[in-house]
Amino acid sequence: MRRLVPSLFVESVYEIDLEQLKARGVRGIITDLDNTLVRWDEPDATPKILQWLDHVRDTYGIKVCIVSNNNHHRVERFAKPLNIPWIAKANKPKNAPFHRALEVLGTKREETVVIGDQLFTDVLGGNRMGLYTVLVVPIGEKEFIGTKVLRAMERLAFAYLRRRGMIPWE
Ligand SMILES: [Mg+2]
Repeated sequence: MRRLVPSLFVESVYEIDLEQLKARGVRGIITDLDNTLVRWDEPDATPKILQWLDHVRDTYGIKVCIVSNNNHHRVERFAKPLNIPWIAKANKPKNAPFHRALEVLGTKREETVVIGDQLFTDVLGGNRMGLYTVLVVPIGEKEFIGTKVLRAMERLAFAYLRRRGMIPWE
């Protein structure tokens, strides 16, 4: 169960203290796409996320790689215009896509953080790799039924961890 506890839990990517990440030696971000950067049904980057990604790369010199379990068409359409490397059909929480992302970024595990909105893919996968994991509240409410089932499981997991005092936030 500990593998499901993120290193950090924030409302959205915009709440992440980039200054602090930089100070901790972070040089790379492996980020989920759907409901983390934009809503799952939003094909392109919004001006706000575009600005944030530019900020991450230009101001802090932190490289970004998008790792998504969604299909190639979706992820390429989003990432290519932004000139951000991506891995689609990633099969998170498996280790392979995280290994590939580290290679793409050219960063060590201790220099890399994982950002995502799902415990069983993003957080579990990142934690198993020994990476710093940031859980964000998912953007949007319209979801596939499969996601809804996963969310219900996540709520159960949260309740369990909270009862055991394993979650440091409310
Ligand atoms: Mg997601």
